[in-house]
Amino acid sequence: MRIIERAAELSAHLGARRAAGDAVGLVPTMGALHDGHASLVERAATECDTVALSIFVNPRQFVPGEDLDTYPSDLDADLVVAEKAGASVVFAPTVPEMFPDASRTTVHVAGLGDVLEGASRPGHFDGVATVVTKLLVLARPSRAYFGEKDFQQLVVVCRLVADLCLPVEVVACPTVRGFDGVALSSRNRYLSVAEREAAAVLYRALRAGAASVVAGERDPGEVVALVAAVAEAEPLVTLDYATVVHPETLAPPEVLAGELRLLVAARVGTTRLIDNVAIEVPE
Ligand code: AMP
Repeated sequence: MRIIERAAELSAHLGARRAAGDAVGLVPTMGALHDGHASLVERAATECDTVALSIFVNPRQFVPGEDLDTYPSDLDADLVVAEKAGASVVFAPTVPEMFPDASRTTVHVAGLGDVLEGASRPGHFDGVATVVTKLLVLARPSRAYFGEKDFQQLVVVCRLVADLCLPVEVVACPTVRGFDGVALSSRNRYLSVAEREAAAVLYRALRAGAASVVAGERDPGEVVALVAAVAEAEPLVTLDYATVVHPETLAPPEVLAGELRLLVAARVGTTRLIDNVAIEVPE
């Protein structure tokens, strides 16, 4: 496995792999790798000849007061996970390498980046969209792998890829969960034992909402109220939002029909967690 820190070297190396006929897959991450990240790399390794995993704690996607300075980081452990999962390249640039002082350009995905997570974390998706665009341009992969765990991020990335005509297929990968149903996240390591137990309520709440739709509920307000009631019954959880949205526009539907997404965001202690599930409403 090759470890690359310079952007130009990444482009040159992957360019040579492409010229040799390889399909290149890209898995962007912020490191502190867990089985969720590994699942993306494993999927990429089944579909691509060369898999590049990027590890970059992107300062532009943290808003003031967030955990940029304390975000978990362990490159040696990450390299072990990456290699075991099938990565052939790890790209781990410094901040000035990705964002030289002279850089001035931001990618803004209007609307999609301003709601939900974007409402609580203003500027977050500009940071995400900008770094993902740069990584796609540097790596020029045929496929890029993103987790459904960060559903809004996936929607933002699909939109920018379409809008900018970037020649890449975005592959959405299912959320990997712990034994207790909690979606794996690098930030879960901030949780105390009691908070981790409390965090399991989020997936239980989402499942309760999805089950109500299966049982015939067609009023989005009722589904959201149920999700909120289940989540808020847990004293250590402070709900930020529960909502049902269209999976491409992120607009809330008036009635439940077709494919939709049920999302929650909450603080558990001081840690902000997000989760979501698909709901499909039969015609
Ligand atoms: P992050 O390092 O948190 O920026 O995540 C990097 C990529 O891994 C993103 O595409 C995430 O959606 C994805 N990811 C994070 N957690 C999970 C998970 N539990 N299951 C699947 N994918 C995940």
